[in-house]
Amino acid sequence: MILVSACLAGIPCRYDGKSSLNPAIADLVERGEALAVCPEMLGGLPVPRVPCEVVTGGGETKVVSRDGRDFTAEYLLGARKTLDIALEARGAKALMKRRSPSCGVGEIYDGTFSGKLTAGNGLAADLLAEHGIEVIPGDEYKGEASDEL
Ligand code: SF4
Repeated sequence: MILVSACLAGIPCRYDGKSSLNPAIADLVERGEALAVCPEMLGGLPVPRVPCEVVTGGGETKVVSRDGRDFTAEYLLGARKTLDIALEARGAKALMKRRSPSCGVGEIYDGTFSGKLTAGNGLAADLLAEHGIEVIPGDEYKGEASDEL
């Protein structure tokens, strides 16, 4: 089973109440080949919600909102629940939304709320990768044979 970011499957769970629909990913879910998960909702955060970015420094990683509140606990909880679902579903791969503080793969916003990117993963993507799950950016997925996934 493949895991996918729920917003890519068309679920309006983004911080701004919108989705990031990728029809090819929605098709995977409809065909029962993928499970849609939103780590931030799993962490108990509402929709809409205040935008957050990952902030690193002093050996610590936190997730902080634009208005300075610390949401690290919620993001960690969502990441752990996402991993539990992936393990339960024997998920070997995950197609995740780029740049998200939870789902981002390879690059995320740099914590300054200035639109700048830095190398790194979101918390959920990072935890999945640490447990051997292949995490792939899903934004541009076009429905290549799903058996390649
Ligand atoms: Fe999409 Fe992931 Fe953000 Fe949820 S946490 S809205 S699935 S990018």
